[in-house]
Amino acid sequence: MFNALVVRKDEDSGKTSAAVEEIGLDDLPEAEVTVAVEYSTVNYKDGLCIGPGGGLVRKYPHVPGIDFAGTVEASSDDRYKPGDKVVLTGWRVGEAHWGGYAQKARVKGDWLVPLPGGLDTRAAMAVGTAGFTAMLAVMALEDHGLEKHHGPVLVTGAAGGVGSVATAILANLGYEVAAVTGRPETEAYLRGLGATQIVPREEINETTKRPLESESWAGCVDAVGGAMLARVLGQMKYGCSVAAVGLAGGAALPATVVPFLLRGVNLLGIDSVMQPYDNRVRAWQRIASDLPMDKLEAMIQPAVLADLPKLGADILKGQVKGRVVVDVN
Ligand code: NDP
Repeated sequence: MFNALVVRKDEDSGKTSAAVEEIGLDDLPEAEVTVAVEYSTVNYKDGLCIGPGGGLVRKYPHVPGIDFAGTVEASSDDRYKPGDKVVLTGWRVGEAHWGGYAQKARVKGDWLVPLPGGLDTRAAMAVGTAGFTAMLAVMALEDHGLEKHHGPVLVTGAAGGVGSVATAILANLGYEVAAVTGRPETEAYLRGLGATQIVPREEINETTKRPLESESWAGCVDAVGGAMLARVLGQMKYGCSVAAVGLAGGAALPATVVPFLLRGVNLLGIDSVMQPYDNRVRAWQRIASDLPMDKLEAMIQPAVLADLPKLGADILKGQVKGRVVVDVN
């Protein structure tokens, strides 16, 4: 028997509730690789899946946790053997399939990535889906021509998970980082991660009637979407790119096509869930080499399984700073 955060749904009221329970190996779904989970984390999607489901959870009872890192315990997949350290993000684990909020998880071998040298399982979950996605965004900007001498790179939702890791990686690579935040009290934290400019959210959150403003940013990692993304598009330098990662501020995009047509601005979509294996391996290797571990340590808020119902509600309200690392043991 082992511990898991189990979400149950009351058929009569339709309400869900989450609590730590003891479950057994036979309760886990069928798949090739059983992993002794060491750490997981808390993402926006986890907030939805711990709570009312947000349309992501297919059936109950459910074990959430969209990412985890641990050690292979049993495997019928030739690529993995007991003792291997692995990390998992995406593939709808923790949504359609039971996830990482348990001391053991059973998943497809295709969904795993070997933990790269230089990262332990705790650091991997301090990075988590948010940090992995931040790295994909930075790689996409670089693949589209971003160079250090082009000017400042904007990071929106900077004090959140994606934003914090993007800020630390970009600053460590030598880029000048401008961090957008709605929480002025996070300024010292963001400067500690390497941001040299703090942009208050309200300065950039409102729609403007002008499709083009002065050219300010050489790149952007955008975790917010909505009106902020629309505004940022009109502030990009000629030929530069925005990596669209998230929708913390809304899914609508009240923009014009003018920045694309007159300034050759690129809008790059970033998806971490179905990302092909080779690019996953490349991103995790870049994380191991480009993310300073002391900065990563400064982002960590430790937690245990019993903390998850509250943390799930907090992240839905935008009240989590940096990266929550859940020690499931
Ligand atoms: P967090 O909640 O940790 O961070 C989001 C940040 O956005 C907040 O900390 C806040 O930053 C800012 N924010 C929140 N609400 C608003 C608002 N109404 N207007 C403007 N800014 C706001 O979430 P994550 O960093 O984990 O994820 C960020 C987004 O990326 C989410 O939408 C998530 O679903 C998405 N995502 C997408 C992935 C993909 O594969 N494309 C993978 C992972 C995440 P501050 O306080 O600094 O203003």
